[in-house]
Amino acid sequence: MRLIFDADHEQFRDAARRFFLNELAPHVERWREQGFVDRWAFEKAGSLGYLLTWADEKYGGAGMSDLRYEQILVEECVRQADIGIYFNLHSTVVAPYIAEIGDEAQRERFLPKAISGEHILAIAMTEPAAGSDLAGMRTKAVRAHDGEGDDWILNGSKIYISNGMQADVVVVAARTSSESKPESRHTIGLFIVEAGMAGFSRGKKLKKMGLPAQDTAELFFENVRVPAANVLGDPTRGFQHMARLLAKERLSLAMTSMAHAQTAFDLTLDFVKERQAFGRPIGAFQNSRFVLAQLRSELDAVQCFVDQCVLLANDRKLDADTGAKAKLLATDLEGRVIDACLQLHGGAGYMDEYRISRMYTDARVSRIFAGTNEIMKEIIGRGLGLDERAAR
Ligand SMILES: Cc1cc2nc3c(=O)[nH]c(=O)nc-3n(C[C@H](O)[C@H](O)[C@H](O)COP(=O)(O)OP(=O)(O)OC[C@H]3O[C@@H](n4cnc5c(N)ncnc54)[C@H](O)[C@@H]3O)c2cc1C
Repeated sequence: MRLIFDADHEQFRDAARRFFLNELAPHVERWREQGFVDRWAFEKAGSLGYLLTWADEKYGGAGMSDLRYEQILVEECVRQADIGIYFNLHSTVVAPYIAEIGDEAQRERFLPKAISGEHILAIAMTEPAAGSDLAGMRTKAVRAHDGEGDDWILNGSKIYISNGMQADVVVVAARTSSESKPESRHTIGLFIVEAGMAGFSRGKKLKKMGLPAQDTAELFFENVRVPAANVLGDPTRGFQHMARLLAKERLSLAMTSMAHAQTAFDLTLDFVKERQAFGRPIGAFQNSRFVLAQLRSELDAVQCFVDQCVLLANDRKLDADTGAKAKLLATDLEGRVIDACLQLHGGAGYMDEYRISRMYTDARVSRIFAGTNEIMKEIIGRGLGLDERAAR
């Protein structure tokens, strides 16, 4: 009953489904155990045109500037070969920083290898003492001032960075003002750090309660010399760039959460039709029917909203408030759907061999990353003119 896809999209979906099912699904179990997805999966996806589908043909992209194609990839990846946020983080979260904020030379240098899957991308904003309060970051970039051009020297550390262990290219946010005035808190620059740069190192892969195939790492920068050619946009306006691009990142996460929730619902519907108790399928109990009827209705409603946001993003009309609403609604619903679906599985739902048990631990982070859901409410509330200053 979704109205946003046409025949071209459906054809693309069929091919993507076959790719995830035949090429990647057989490896998911091993990737969950080893804690990361093999690099060849990126290269394979790239060779089929499944990375940065929106990128211009002159960089090697498919030039399909229609977010519905990325949405289809997210949905089929979750359903057939659930490997976390690897591909969509790379394609719809990080690469747009280079495409939209970078200059032509940077696009020519970095996009082709991201499209082919030769390079894996990551973005590093969060620090041990600055997550929700990004303006409190301590990682600092200062101009080199040693007569060798406009290079910058980067010092600090980042934490919880997805794709952090494997990334070849990391977009790093760092403070660029040495002034202590409150307004200087938002003076932040964005720097492209490349694997192999002197002073750039990675900590251990972090152990997590879910998303085991997703590598998550701590990154360290000790006097890393970043050439001027690797500065993304105006080095004092990184905060504004992040605020703008985070709307799309949050929509991307909303798409993923809806795919998880829809998948959990479908496999639970099959389960309650099969599993018997008191001489009948457990789906025949009024409680099961009511729980699933409620969830089905909410899934349909939120999916409509997320689909509408995708069309808004296509028209470049997705604003920060709307992106925050999509993230809040979809991730909250994902949590509730998966919890209720696990309950309907009974003890089986607690067993690792049932997908729903893994979905439960995997889903918990959705309400936390890309800005917590409390911060989403702050953003939406501020849009209503209800910030603390308004209250006074
Ligand atoms: C698996 C995983 C992957 C991640 N990937 C990345 C990545 O690739 N790149 C990256 O930069 N970051 C990444 N993150 C970091 C993530 O975005 C942050 O963890 C998140 O923004 C929350 O920040 P924090 O952990 O510092 O929590 P805190 O900011 O310390 O928040 C703790 C609690 O306080 C609440 N809180 C804070 N401020 C307010 C407020 N003003 N009003 C009400 N409540 C408030 C929060 O909602 C939360 O409940 C990842 C995190 C995880 C767990």
